[in-house]
Amino acid sequence: MAKCEQCGNDYDKAFEVRFGGKTHVFDSFECAIQKMAPECNHCGCKIIGHGVENSGKMFCCVNCARESGESSLRDRV
Ligand SMILES: [Zn+2]
Ligand SMILES: [Zn+2]
Repeated sequence: MAKCEQCGNDYDKAFEVRFGGKTHVFDSFECAIQKMAPECNHCGCKIIGHGVENSGKMFCCVNCARESGESSLRDRV
């Protein structure tokens, strides 16, 4: 049985997420998001969509990127 690495829950329906060559185990998407999702550089929310990346900074949307002074961005679809 796998243990969620975010909350430690021992759950028979835990799943694995492979990211950057490492395998992570979670019992729920909420825990996976909590642990894996990057945070928006502007509003601080968890980025669970495509997000926007510019010069190493992550943003949840183009609007946040713009608010932070990034100008040449488009939503990646
Ligand atoms: Zn968990
Ligand atoms: Zn944001």
